Amino acid sequence: MKIICIGRNYTDHINELVNEKPEYPVVFMKPDTSILNSGFPFVIPEFSNDVHHELEVVVKINKVGKYIQPKFASKYYNQIGLGIDFTARDLQAKLKEKGLPWEIAKGFDGATVLGSFVDKNQFENVQNIAFEMQKNGTVVQSGNTKEMLWNIDELISYVSQYFTLKVGDVIFTGTPAGVAKVSPEDVLEGFLEGQKLFSVKVM
Ligand code: ZN
Repeated sequence: MKIICIGRNYTDHINELVNEKPEYPVVFMKPDTSILNSGFPFVIPEFSNDVHHELEVVVKINKVGKYIQPKFASKYYNQIGLGIDFTARDLQAKLKEKGLPWEIAKGFDGATVLGSFVDKNQFENVQNIAFEMQKNGTVVQSGNTKEMLWNIDELISYVSQYFTLKVGDVIFTGTPAGVAKVSPEDVLEGFLEGQKLFSVKVM
């Protein structure tokens, strides 16, 4: 199973990290060993002093596809959910500065939270879904899928030009603004249109 991630898909987050708006989607992958087992706490790794949460809408591929056209992309996923792309920002910043790949800053064990998935058909329009994350009961990140620079269909199409999509692959569609450091004892809860899809404790 592949965990495909999109960077810089919301303008407000691009501004927050003072990144340039890209010409094409920024794509990277996390290994499946980065998935945090459901019910387990997220343990801050010893190699970072600045692990950030990135709340993201996630889609799950349900059909094998390559060179998928945007107009057919919606047939390649049924389920939508939320996840966290944990990022060791200090490590990533060092690697970015040197122009090196940042995989270890995002692909380490436990760095991927996958919440429950729901049927996408319960939403009238997948490009108008509100989502948010609360940290210790306070909203820290919120967004709406209508704010994406590239919508879900365009992302599926773009990614499938390079990687054959397989059943069970997931695509993290980028984070809105509000990324911030996590600390021991934090509790992170993700909501898609008010439905709670995950709850993770930080240690
Ligand atoms: Zn991300």
